[in-house]
Amino acid sequence: MMFKNFKSVSKCAYGRGSFNKLGEILAEKRTPESSVMVFLVDDYFLGKELAQRLPTQAGDMIEYIYAGGDEPKTSQIDELRDRILQAYGMPAGVVGIGGGSVMDIAKATALMLTNEGSSVQYQGLNLIKKPGVYHVGIPTISGTGAEVSMTAVLTGPTKKLGLKCDWTVFDQIILDPDLIHSVPRNDWFYTGMDTYIHCIESMTGHLKNTFSEAYGYKALDLCREVYLGENAGQTPSNDEKLMVASYFGGLSLTYSEVGVCHALSYGLSYVFGTRHCFANCIIFNVLEDFYPEGVAEFKEMVRKNDIFIPQNLAKDWTDTQIEKMIDITWALTHMWRHALGEDWEKKLTRQQIKDLYLRM
Ligand code: NAD
Ligand code: ZN
Repeated sequence: MMFKNFKSVSKCAYGRGSFNKLGEILAEKRTPESSVMVFLVDDYFLGKELAQRLPTQAGDMIEYIYAGGDEPKTSQIDELRDRILQAYGMPAGVVGIGGGSVMDIAKATALMLTNEGSSVQYQGLNLIKKPGVYHVGIPTISGTGAEVSMTAVLTGPTKKLGLKCDWTVFDQIILDPDLIHSVPRNDWFYTGMDTYIHCIESMTGHLKNTFSEAYGYKALDLCREVYLGENAGQTPSNDEKLMVASYFGGLSLTYSEVGVCHALSYGLSYVFGTRHCFANCIIFNVLEDFYPEGVAEFKEMVRKNDIFIPQNLAKDWTDTQIEKMIDITWALTHMWRHALGEDWEKKLTRQQIKDLYLRM
């Protein structure tokens, strides 16, 4: 039997210029008892035109978030939650404007405002006890699918794992392709490739199914137009395509599972702090044994867009670091089961994983 029963984003606005409707959308959620909105905004926008267009009211909180360093941490969420409650009480909503980092911070903060204790204790599936506050996601870089997924990925003291449950999903998202136009070229490529890899992995494995494939095929087509088509590159029309591809890719993986690249990627990110999408590119580049066609096409995209993917990294890694990465990877049993089958432990050895890391 297959049973896939997931909560979707409650409302999804799409269209160039939709960001201008944010004020109206939030107005419905402001009540006399609780009217404060918390705006969490990628600090790239500090002093930019978008910052002038935030529909804030007196008493709202605006927090600019640096997303260029470490990925979101449990301690960061706990601190932010405490600060919001102390200064504002329970807000009417949280709005995350940025990439996967800021959107995950918004999702996690919305949940932690109503759930006691540290976010560390909620890393996992369905551990959250109460619905969070109303939360809105507005992507400004496309590819991770964080705008549509039911997880808020956090790095804690012992693991990198999401707060995953129905309540994590955004109540509202706004997909406005204008917002991603300023993304630096490398980030545009690495983050976009996360979608490409989500689709290749979700569609190549034991859990693949028609529902997941339907979204996956369309997302792959869109990625091909954006990165390989006659008019490849960061054009306004491609911004629209990439934004939709990210959303569809997220749904494709939700209804199936990610595979080998993501399993190895969590190891790399955990040990070296390598950012998710960049790590995936480094890894996917050496996975031709598992995804021959996908990797060949990925390499073509790298060439066509003249993007640098680091190689020969492993020569600087110690055995201890590699063993730790293997531990982290090995524990992602659901990904291996999808990629290799129920008997994956008979098909895979720690040495094979080590050999893959050594190719990077
Ligand atoms: P990001 O949020 O990490 O941002 C990447 C860079 O792009 C940052 O330097 C940021 O300042 C910049 N940026 C963002 N928008 C911009 C714009 N419009 N113009 C100029 N610069 C801009 O990017 P990401 O790759 O979307 O997110 C990665 C994070 O997403 C990781 O923390 C990862 O764990 C998480 N993730 C979450 C999910 C999920 O389902 N929740 C899935 C995959 C990855
Ligand atoms: Zn991913």
